[in-house]
Amino acid sequence: MQWFRAFSAIATLLAMTLVAAAQDFPQSAKILFASETAPSAGSPKSFGFYNNGCIAGAEALPIDGPNWQAMRLSRNRRFGHPDTIALIKRLASDAAQYDGWPGLLVGDISQPRGGPMLSGHASHQVGLDADIWLNPMPDRRLSLREREDISAVSMLKNDGTLFVDPEKFTPAHERLIMRAASYPEVQRIFVHPGIKKAICEDWKGDRSNLAKVRPYYGHHYHFHIRLFCRPGSPGCKAQNAVDMKDDGCGDHLAWWLSDEPWAPVEPAPPPKKPEKPAPKPTRPSYKTLADLPAACTGVLGAPAPSPLPTAALTPTIPLPPLAPWPEVGPVPQPRPQG
Ligand SMILES: [Zn+2]
Repeated sequence: MQWFRAFSAIATLLAMTLVAAAQDFPQSAKILFASETAPSAGSPKSFGFYNNGCIAGAEALPIDGPNWQAMRLSRNRRFGHPDTIALIKRLASDAAQYDGWPGLLVGDISQPRGGPMLSGHASHQVGLDADIWLNPMPDRRLSLREREDISAVSMLKNDGTLFVDPEKFTPAHERLIMRAASYPEVQRIFVHPGIKKAICEDWKGDRSNLAKVRPYYGHHYHFHIRLFCRPGSPGCKAQNAVDMKDDGCGDHLAWWLSDEPWAPVEPAPPPKKPEKPAPKPTRPSYKTLADLPAACTGVLGAPAPSPLPTAALTPTIPLPPLAPWPEVGPVPQPRPQG
């Protein structure tokens, strides 16, 4: 089975490459960025927006620290702006010291040079997004194999409800999320609406950062930390500001808990038989480098640091991954603003 999956992934890549070549279209940006195994050298700079950009001079999160372990190493998404990496380390240490949270299991940050990915997220492209699992770190080092196989745990009552299971989602989870929200570098945090509801109802401490905790689809296996564009990255495009005067526990949350955001997506009508043959496409149906900020072409072509920092070396994983990251369910189009 693993062999089959590995084979079909390679076959897909090959097919996409051949299609691109046959039509004389440039290569898909996600293939180019997913193929990069090392960051570019030089000072850190994010270019573009969270869901359309890249990062130069990214730093790797070491796979192990005193209070964290990086997961799914085969995905090679442990890279981020040095401020993102520093913030994860600080959260790991603060949460262990003050919040009764033994340590972080860290999911995806960005690829070594950011950019679009072959699977999963739309964002995480500029080194300023990080996923933290909602299961606490066990009190032992996980093997490389376990880091591929262990499943993240949903905090919801039964998958499919909108509400958290208090047996799974505890006050320590709330302290961890509110700790992350308290850092001034953090622009917003995405959690499942049921998690936001629980924090709105339970949180007795300082609520001034609750506005940053934003309900969104998915995010009941992990929460997502997003940093503001960092100083020294003039090419980084900011996201609209969170209204810090509204803690989001009123109308905004009520909408997320209503039926509207979860209404099934209307199936597309069956395609009509074309009267004349479709014109030859003039541009590819996928994103190419031309769709990204121009600086990202330079980021792709830049040399890697020499020597590569030890933390950036990817350990050899004995087998291809088995357990896929849970995908977000069907969502309406266009997606509402998170
Ligand atoms: Zn994420």
